[in-house]
Amino acid sequence: AFNADVVPQAPEDALFGLMAAYRRDEDPNKVDLGIGAYRDNNAKPWVLPVVKKADEILRKDPDLNHEYLPIAGLPAFTAASQKLILGGDSPAIGEKRVTSLQTISGTGAVHLGALFLSKFYQPTTDRLVYFSDPTWPNHFQIFSNVGLAYKTYPYFDKQTKGLAFDGFLDTIQSAPEGSIIVLHACAHNPTGVDLTQEQWKKIAGVIRSKKHFPFFDTAYQGFASGDLAKDGWAIRYFVEQGFELCIAQSYAKNFGLYGERAGCFHFVTSPAFDAESTVTRVASQLAILQRSEISNPPAYGARIASTVLNDTELFAEWEDNLRTMSGRIIDMRKALRGKLEELGTPGKWNHITEQIGMFSFTGLSEQQVLKLREDSHVYMTKNGRISMAGLNTNNVDYFAKAVDKAVR
Ligand code: PMP
Repeated sequence: AFNADVVPQAPEDALFGLMAAYRRDEDPNKVDLGIGAYRDNNAKPWVLPVVKKADEILRKDPDLNHEYLPIAGLPAFTAASQKLILGGDSPAIGEKRVTSLQTISGTGAVHLGALFLSKFYQPTTDRLVYFSDPTWPNHFQIFSNVGLAYKTYPYFDKQTKGLAFDGFLDTIQSAPEGSIIVLHACAHNPTGVDLTQEQWKKIAGVIRSKKHFPFFDTAYQGFASGDLAKDGWAIRYFVEQGFELCIAQSYAKNFGLYGERAGCFHFVTSPAFDAESTVTRVASQLAILQRSEISNPPAYGARIASTVLNDTELFAEWEDNLRTMSGRIIDMRKALRGKLEELGTPGKWNHITEQIGMFSFTGLSEQQVLKLREDSHVYMTKNGRISMAGLNTNNVDYFAKAVDKAVR
């Protein structure tokens, strides 16, 4: 019989534990820079105006019901998602080299891809997954849960607080041929450090020569620069180069649909005379995996996103909403750096404005992070990451002064 007494206590999820500690804190000045969720200038969650509109449209539809979606999800949503990430005129779509399934947000897409690879990916040498060091911590759990072993490639240079490019390149160069390389498409979590286009090209060159398999995680398209094509550039470049690859796409941040769990998994195969048949077979296996895992995905978030993605006017309004979010974050980067420099806070702070997206890797030590929490009621992860969206014109001065005090 199963003896549940043998089940050991697992540690609390670091990020969700931090959120709970923040909620318990009764200090009126407390600042939440933990979870990566957008906040408006009043530190409140922001329902995108275009999402409100889509919601009203859906609610007025007399034919709307609560039937199951197909196993692969809402077709209008998955088709629009392909176009969004690959570009509307992508030859890969035209040549039917892409298959897509709606997933439980980005996490579900990463999981479905990992599960698929664990079953079907057979490189000639050791089967290894490579993550950036550091990465979104869930990558480790998701891939190891499906039995895939992993290593990391250098990514963050503590000295410059920028990219450890040489180490990155060398490590994937010496990785066993056919390794799975997980790549953040843009707005790297947790560092906010992205590759330049030149650097992406060099990485692509090594991935090609070593016959590695690229696995893109894209959770911030449009959220980083405010420009969907720019934030999708790396993926489009790899597809253009003819790589076979996976994409895990999340709509949590760029639509503010966090809890609705709207996402998509794409498998793109290389140009070949039998590409369509490859994709058909891959799709059939993915459908079986999806059926056993979630049967079929949740409808509401996908309907919202689909309504916007498939309407020219709403799409333009969404792009405007994206610029509002990314613009406010960029303003907060400038404000924070400016304040710290004005205070003469020890250290260099140029990385605050050079990094991009939801997060900044401040370079604060674990000790300083704990001091900030104890002395100033500022909540951030132990690795010194801050969610930029938690800052606003009302608390950025307070935060800068708290940092100043903690590092002196
Ligand atoms: N990948 C990365 C790198 C992320 O930062 C996130 C969001 N924190 C995700 C995937 C997936 O998030 P979700 O499941 O909420 O879409």
